Amino acid sequence: MPDDVIRIMCPKLTCRRILAVPVTARGRTVRCRGCGSNIRIPTQPASGSPGAGAGMPKGDTSGRAGM
Ligand SMILES: [Zn+2]
Repeated sequence: MPDDVIRIMCPKLTCRRILAVPVTARGRTVRCRGCGSNIRIPTQPASGSPGAGAGMPKGDTSGRAGM
């Protein structure tokens, strides 16, 4: 499933319309088609990605000279 589109909900309680914006719109402001209010697109998704920032392989034993 491609992640080229960000789905964001309109913060306006009377609207709450789901807007689909391209990922290129991150950090920008889009206008809601439902109520016409400006909504800022976050640079990162609301939900954190699972299993990220752990498991950095280090301690490379390769390159042993002398045999
Ligand atoms: Zn709206």
